[in-house]
Amino acid sequence: MTALVTGATSGIGRAIAKQLADEGAEVIVHGRDARRGSDVVAEIEKAGGAARFIQADMTDEADVLRLADEAGDVDILINNAGIFQFYGTSEMTTERFDLHMDVNTKAPFLLTRALAPGMAERGRGSIVNISTLAAAVTTKGTGMYAASKAALEQLTRVWSAEYGTQGVRVNAVAPGPVRTPGTDDMDAATLKAIGETTVLGRIAEPEEIAEAVVFLASDRASYITGIVLEAAGGRLSIG
Ligand code: NAP
Repeated sequence: MTALVTGATSGIGRAIAKQLADEGAEVIVHGRDARRGSDVVAEIEKAGGAARFIQADMTDEADVLRLADEAGDVDILINNAGIFQFYGTSEMTTERFDLHMDVNTKAPFLLTRALAPGMAERGRGSIVNISTLAAAVTTKGTGMYAASKAALEQLTRVWSAEYGTQGVRVNAVAPGPVRTPGTDDMDAATLKAIGETTVLGRIAEPEEIAEAVVFLASDRASYITGIVLEAAGGRLSIG
């Protein structure tokens, strides 16, 4: 079983790559940062697993297509690489708009278009897209991030319908706030305040999100497709 995990050099993707390797998958660790990539590969190998690193920039279509080509036949595709920058609409430049759409929406589309037909031909495959709770909850300043992931959620449902009868399941996981290098630059008070918007009253560790992703990717979820699973600590009701 081979799994391609995009954005596996950091945070949630790294945790997913390690858990998939623990479950016996040969993992293709993707990212831009070769040093962090080889660190993750070394961690997986040290734990007795198998992994290799492929570098590609998700803003560059030719690079994403090369990644798909070099990955070859994969059984599991985890579209995790993502960026999240928070600006009000008046401050959202065209470049930032394009960046969110390219990394969060277009790259998963390019990889799915390249790899899902092979899965369908072999009669089995599983794709998990990493979304965000922000795609469903209205929060000022999340515009392009939320929109790029909301598009990914609808693509998840469409892809599940297109490939389902050929043995390919497509699902998404929508995490709430997670402690990762990507959220490191937020101060502790902000992170705590965000955690307090959840029923569980705290932010998540990457491994907790990875559990949900690996479940959906595995045969244990054999009758689940086209869903967006919220791994977000519960939404608080008003009052
Ligand atoms: P992170 O720590 O910032 O890691 C982001 C990963 O994406 C890195 O591996 C990075 O690779 C890769 N990446 C970013 N831009 C790229 C590009 N242009 N080309 C190739 N790779 C690129 O992020 P994270 O917090 O783990 O988030 C992972 C996913 O979960 C994202 O899709 C994010 O939207 C989603 N999410 C996160 C949270 C949260 O609170 N952390 C909440 C909800 C959803 P390199 O650094 O090697 O380039």
